[in-house]
Amino acid sequence: MIIRNILLLILSIYNITNSFYINGECCNSCRGGGTSKGEINNNNQSKQKNKNTRPTSNPLSKIIPDNIIPIPNDQYSDNPTNPDNTINEQSNNNNVQEPKNETVTPGLKGLQNVGATCYMNAVLQCFSNLPRFRTELLVQYQDLKQNKDEKYKLSFALAEVLQNLWSKNGGKYYSPNNFKDTIGELNHSFKGIAANDPKDLVIFIMQQIHKELNTKESTIATNNNNDRYDFLTEYNSFMDHYKGHNDSIMTNEFHFYTNNMTTCSNCKKTIHSVQTDNILFFPLEEVRKFKGYNNNSVSINDCFEYYERQTYSDYTCNNCNYNCYGNNSTKIVSSAKTLIINLNRGHGIEFDVNITFEEYLYIDKFVHMPNSPKNYELTGVICHIGTNDDGGHFIAYCKNSNNCKWYKFNDTFVIECPFKEVQEKGLPYVLFYSYVEAG
Ligand SMILES: [Zn+2]
Repeated sequence: MIIRNILLLILSIYNITNSFYINGECCNSCRGGGTSKGEINNNNQSKQKNKNTRPTSNPLSKIIPDNIIPIPNDQYSDNPTNPDNTINEQSNNNNVQEPKNETVTPGLKGLQNVGATCYMNAVLQCFSNLPRFRTELLVQYQDLKQNKDEKYKLSFALAEVLQNLWSKNGGKYYSPNNFKDTIGELNHSFKGIAANDPKDLVIFIMQQIHKELNTKESTIATNNNNDRYDFLTEYNSFMDHYKGHNDSIMTNEFHFYTNNMTTCSNCKKTIHSVQTDNILFFPLEEVRKFKGYNNNSVSINDCFEYYERQTYSDYTCNNCNYNCYGNNSTKIVSSAKTLIINLNRGHGIEFDVNITFEEYLYIDKFVHMPNSPKNYELTGVICHIGTNDDGGHFIAYCKNSNNCKWYKFNDTFVIECPFKEVQEKGLPYVLFYSYVEAG
């Protein structure tokens, strides 16, 4: 008890409110309790005793003051001292066990941190706020869940989370223990309490659920036919082949198609190669250099321009048989219904190139098929807050499809916020743009 009091005193001297880093781990919130349901009750008891700390299974036994680097309060806009949090705040207190019979507005439920899972919670909220995807997944879940087939493990686990997040019942937050266990079981890099990269989880979810729900027999991705000098021949051939082997809610919603072209410097013949992907990577520092900007800010439009840039490489042309150079470029042929963009920040996520973006995105000039999606609205942003690339904390900003308002999802905290905050606070890391009809 004496040791406990001494540690409490040291903590108060450090003036730790609810945010700090532990080396090599995520924020204190993420270091929170174990994944077993038994521990969570204990957490809540200890949380109630000390309202200034984020949930941990046993904070005093784990925290060594030497390892603690306090983050300025303004890094956490859910901090009680931050005036921004006064906006329609549902709960500023992570410490109180919500009564399970309390009703909550559908879609505005928080997610409990079940052990370094802020990255996972941010990802889940972004998928949850894609109404088209959510509805389709839940329909498939209703059809398939009678099977209790192990094959659909992640699809079921995600559907279960989304169903709970959009239920009026069950309290103000949901504990995604089963989802956490499932991703850890299917992919060991998501096991345990190591802090993970949300972009990796987004990609894993898209690949794994495609594997589980693919209605075609195999997932052969590409054909081997090279040397297509005519784009449409290449495109149709690729699509026939690809779609003959891949058809799922994930390909339907998240896949886009690109044309990679190489033009021979000697005979000027262009070879086309169509490919598919489900996430766009924009390296912000390279975009800045490409645009020749001296300031540290690029726009989403700049990123798309960079994506289409021309590069040169050594090239042996099969048409004229010359060893010369090829002029390479990539264009989006047909875009995804939901376009996911990863803003790559180079040397660690904190690398400081600012990105400007709007709530609506129109990419007509970067998408080449006339019937492809081109009008988008932003529905989710995964943001990094903090300053340390091996720690920090992830939150999500999402737009609620029922009332079109923006909310900040910070584990169990859910707070309405103006879109300006989405644009200006934290470091945007993954953007979710959802297709809307023109006009
Ligand atoms: Zn040539």
